[in-house]
Amino acid sequence: MKPREKKLYMDLAQRMGQMSYCHRAQVGCVVVKEDNIISYGWNGTPAGEDNCCEDEHGISKPNVIHAEDNALRKLTRTDSSSKGAEVFVTIAPCIRCAEKLSDARVSKVYYAALRKGRTVGIEHLQRHDKLFSHAHQTAFQHNECMGLW
Ligand SMILES: [Zn+2]
Repeated sequence: MKPREKKLYMDLAQRMGQMSYCHRAQVGCVVVKEDNIISYGWNGTPAGEDNCCEDEHGISKPNVIHAEDNALRKLTRTDSSSKGAEVFVTIAPCIRCAEKLSDARVSKVYYAALRKGRTVGIEHLQRHDKLFSHAHQTAFQHNECMGLW
């Protein structure tokens, strides 16, 4: 995949994140396979529930579905397979999503930003498959994508 395509997909993931109703963090995800976007998602409450992601203390509700999880769930309703797909997510996956992405046999995960102190998901991806890689948001902002993955 060319650097300019990676930038496009991460830009799209950022745009997907803007669709989220969550206040603490808006996260977007795009799943790409063979030059096609086969799924996408953002973090939010399950379909049919109110769109409020945080409780009265500003803490994320336990039923909030993460962007990667939503993208994988959406994919199960299609004929496409996540096996070998590349995933673009705006914030590095948490451990639960990292495990789901591993199980889904995606080939690579690109993330734009790390959440402070939360590297367990990334460590999981690195430990289980060397093909997983990352790129930092600044690289995209400066349009210097080459050589970072
Ligand atoms: Zn997650």
